[in-house]
Amino acid sequence: MALEKPQDNQLQFLIIPLMSPGHYIPTIDMAKLLAQHGVKVTIVTTPVNALRFGSILDQAVQSGLPICFLEFPLPSTEFGLPEGCESLDDLPNLGLAKELFLAQSSLQQQVEQYIENSEPKPSCILSGTFLQWPAETAKKFQIPRIIFDGMNCFTQMINHVLYLTKVYESVGESESFVLPGLPDRIELTRSQLSFAFNSSGSKEVKEFHEKVRVSESEAYGVIINSFQELEQGYSDEYQKIKEDKVWCVGPLSLCHKDVSEKALRGNKPSINKNECLKWLDSKDNASVIYACLGSISRMEPDQLVELALALESSNRPFIWVVRAGHKTPKIEKWIEEDGFEERTRDRGLLIRGWAPQLLVLSHPAIGGFLTHCGWNSTLEGVCAGVPMVTWPQFQEQFYNEKLVVQVLRIGVSVGAQSVVHWGEEEKSGVQIKSEELRKAIEMVMEEGKEGEERRKRAKELGKMAHKAVEEGGSSHQNMRRLIEDIRNQSSTRNSS
Ligand code: UDP
Repeated sequence: MALEKPQDNQLQFLIIPLMSPGHYIPTIDMAKLLAQHGVKVTIVTTPVNALRFGSILDQAVQSGLPICFLEFPLPSTEFGLPEGCESLDDLPNLGLAKELFLAQSSLQQQVEQYIENSEPKPSCILSGTFLQWPAETAKKFQIPRIIFDGMNCFTQMINHVLYLTKVYESVGESESFVLPGLPDRIELTRSQLSFAFNSSGSKEVKEFHEKVRVSESEAYGVIINSFQELEQGYSDEYQKIKEDKVWCVGPLSLCHKDVSEKALRGNKPSINKNECLKWLDSKDNASVIYACLGSISRMEPDQLVELALALESSNRPFIWVVRAGHKTPKIEKWIEEDGFEERTRDRGLLIRGWAPQLLVLSHPAIGGFLTHCGWNSTLEGVCAGVPMVTWPQFQEQFYNEKLVVQVLRIGVSVGAQSVVHWGEEEKSGVQIKSEELRKAIEMVMEEGKEGEERRKRAKELGKMAHKAVEEGGSSHQNMRRLIEDIRNQSSTRNSS
């Protein structure tokens, strides 16, 4: 895209990402886009995260884009975390998420000192609602705060309806209920709701989410990594609720055009990019099923075995991203003893650790994406124009599944029934057997009329996604609208 020239009254966005790949990755994309629009971007970060997530921006920075990192050491060990542990996916177990957020909160004073000494002050602060302190900081310095949570309008509307109506309170765990007032008839069960509404959430969790809600309602606006055409009815409704202070500027991942950038996103990949491309090049178009369950899910090894067996019995080429956190050795032991890798060597590729997901998904050999329905992954699947096998785990992933399967009709559910609570993966055990997984894979990859139509819809949405971020597309225009809005805010503040 044509770069916009920085102006004398250059805006500065101060970005404070949550320490999780699912937040960091789109935030870094957002930084690049803002900088391409002439905005100066400062990202508050810590050493490991700067190295890990920031290296994708090296080229952009070298080419003169106004992006800089404000780096502070994270006192991980003071909060009972291993040295150098700076991201949710590095935690020994997800039950330690709170400690990680607390460690990040301890940076507040240093960030405030930076703002105190900056002249001019940042034009706005961009952060997620899970971090409470940026809201306090923004208030203290009277800087508008914009929320960037990495969720779509569909989820925001579901949360809104749940808060407003409390419809879930009068039903049993597995009883399904309809969410009133949405453009489509969406049914969920209580056990599929995100932590804030799930009855298993402790009092502490509920109080935390109440704070999140208040902080959200006090924010100046919300940036959404989605595009209007994907969820039109929902983005229109959400705009109304937020009095036009919603900016759908995605899909953000599309800001990475070249192969090296795609390969570097989020982490150094565990497979050489050329090797990966060579493997994909050797497969027929739309023949490969790509299975990856995101960055933080800690699926039990027994459940992973079911997935492996399903991929094998699908009789199709596949890529399986193997990650089980501290239980990885257990699944590796099974792979070796069972001879799985050997048996499927002619058509299976195992990526142990971090996959270059953007690179993989954008290859024409990919025919289906088995996903945990994290919003980044889901949207990346939409951009790639591939149908999806949906296997939600937690947070708002069951809502994303509804969007994909029921509203957009580009996915097939494996039939997951309830969220897996962080730190309680072992209790959940095996929820989906290999036969159910195989059937869902088969439906997505099959060549019959239904599969063909699903594929066609997915392709059309993929095209729409690319159009949205082009010059003149809805997301491109929304980005301009956002920058203009903050510029007006800044001028008003400076003149008063
Ligand atoms: N991702 C990746 N390689 C992996 C695992 C994840 O590139 O092996 C990226 C993926 O492309 C996405 C992000 O990590 O951008 C995960 O975010 P998402 O919202 O899908 O799920 P989460 O990890 O937050 O549950």
